[in-house]
Amino acid sequence: MIDLRSDTVTKPTEAMRAAMARADVGDDVYGEDPTVNRLQEMMAAMFGKKTALLVPSGTMANQLAIRLHTQPGQEVIVESKAHIVRYEQGAAGALAGVQLHWIVGDRGLISAEQVEAAIRPKEPHTIQTGLICIENTHNSGGGTIYPLATIERIRAVATTHGIPMHLDGARLFNAIAATSLPPASYAQHFDSLSVCLSKGLGAPVGSVLMMNDLTLLEKAKRVRRMYGGAMRQAGILAAAGIYALEHHIERLQEDHDHAKQLARRLQQISTVRISPHDVDTNIVIFDVIGHRLAPPAIVAALKKEGVLINAIGGESFRAVTHLDISNSMADEACAIFTRVLAV
Ligand SMILES: *Cc1c(COP(=O)(O)O)cnc(C)c1O
Repeated sequence: MIDLRSDTVTKPTEAMRAAMARADVGDDVYGEDPTVNRLQEMMAAMFGKKTALLVPSGTMANQLAIRLHTQPGQEVIVESKAHIVRYEQGAAGALAGVQLHWIVGDRGLISAEQVEAAIRPKEPHTIQTGLICIENTHNSGGGTIYPLATIERIRAVATTHGIPMHLDGARLFNAIAATSLPPASYAQHFDSLSVCLSKGLGAPVGSVLMMNDLTLLEKAKRVRRMYGGAMRQAGILAAAGIYALEHHIERLQEDHDHAKQLARRLQQISTVRISPHDVDTNIVIFDVIGHRLAPPAIVAALKKEGVLINAIGGESFRAVTHLDISNSMADEACAIFTRVLAV
């Protein structure tokens, strides 16, 4: 089966499993797991932040950030299709007591002008803006990369208004691989950022939340504990993360090449609407128009031929390339798309 549903479906390689089995471990709640500590130091150094904290999921990393930067009753500015809006079960409201102020982006990207217009005035009747969140790459936008210049302009607005910024960088490594920009060039503009080890990097579990503020780190450890995310011999997981940092970053370009290949082939199919130019990284979003089958039946027909993708609402579908998709699997997926989608 060629599984293009998500880059979360990757399985740890033999070499990664061997690194996990060898990992030196300790109790991380006491700060005594040497492998967790090493991963955290590597990540902080790579992104130019003072501290890094391993957490079980990207959702938890985002939710810690929202909780740390805001007060209950405040508002968080975020793009309307962001992971924080769509896929975190309302945690920002449920756990941090904040409301989300959605801005509709262009393929998930919002501008400094939009952010500026969304910041609430500091007057007694009006809810106060506590945080601005940005997602890079933007998942539902189609793996879109934020231009650094846009981030710089949003940062300038945020600084003027004294509002902190958090980066949901679940797939930041994809942006880094595609642009060749140093990781810190993105990270420097944010008070905190989260990065997933379990997406394109292919680790089985784990995200890392990074920031500069040591007081905030102490608070982050307490909230992580509150949310049930403090782990013990987590070095087993951190070892997978370290292995991924050392071996799986450069190869992300292969995933991007496969995504472009799929997009170009899809464009040749008469029922498909897609602009290959819009495929920045490893996510391919496309529409199927005027096919005799409805979206769930299209997904089923592709599955029968050996390709798994997700229908994501309306006539849209999402295919994601990753570590477990080889050149020949990408070729085969192209052939299957043509067979099933052409009418
Ligand atoms: C996957 C993802 C996350 C985190 O997801 P978890 O499943 O909680 O690890 C966060 N943000 C984005 C944009 C994602 O794609």
